[in-house]
Amino acid sequence: MNEQDEYWMRQAMLLAAKAEAEDEVPVGALVVLNGQCIGQGWNKSIGSHDATAHAEIMALRQAGQTIGNYRLLDCTLYVTLEPCMMCAGAMVHSRIKRLVYGAADAKTGSVDSVLRLLATPGLNHLVNWQSGVLAEECATQLSAFFKRRRAEKKAARKQAAT
Ligand SMILES: [Zn+2]
Repeated sequence: MNEQDEYWMRQAMLLAAKAEAEDEVPVGALVVLNGQCIGQGWNKSIGSHDATAHAEIMALRQAGQTIGNYRLLDCTLYVTLEPCMMCAGAMVHSRIKRLVYGAADAKTGSVDSVLRLLATPGLNHLVNWQSGVLAEECATQLSAFFKRRRAEKKAARKQAAT
């Protein structure tokens, strides 16, 4: 982990907070090329009724628009949560050079946890990756969200019962 990685992960956490403000699971992602952010995204699945609207996909789409090319050569993608299989696949298609993620995802993480997609032999493009950058802070951001949501649901049930 280097200082750059920490800096960009903090920016990704700010994007995750935007998702949370929209009542989405707080995950944020951004794409960096030559020290500049060229794409950013946060989860929008619930609001847009779109299972593919993950933070990483949003960031990849914006980065492609920014440089006018879907091939994001020499780019690094930062994301607060370990990518799922769809997003790991999208990174291969986008030719992302390096992935940096924060918290591990024991349920759908497809880089280290459930699957190790990026390490699949024979893939046409290799993405290097770094796990665990600000992992604890990223995990806390997520668990605080779920805790708050559970409390809200409980309060709503209580109110409905009275
Ligand atoms: Zn995903």
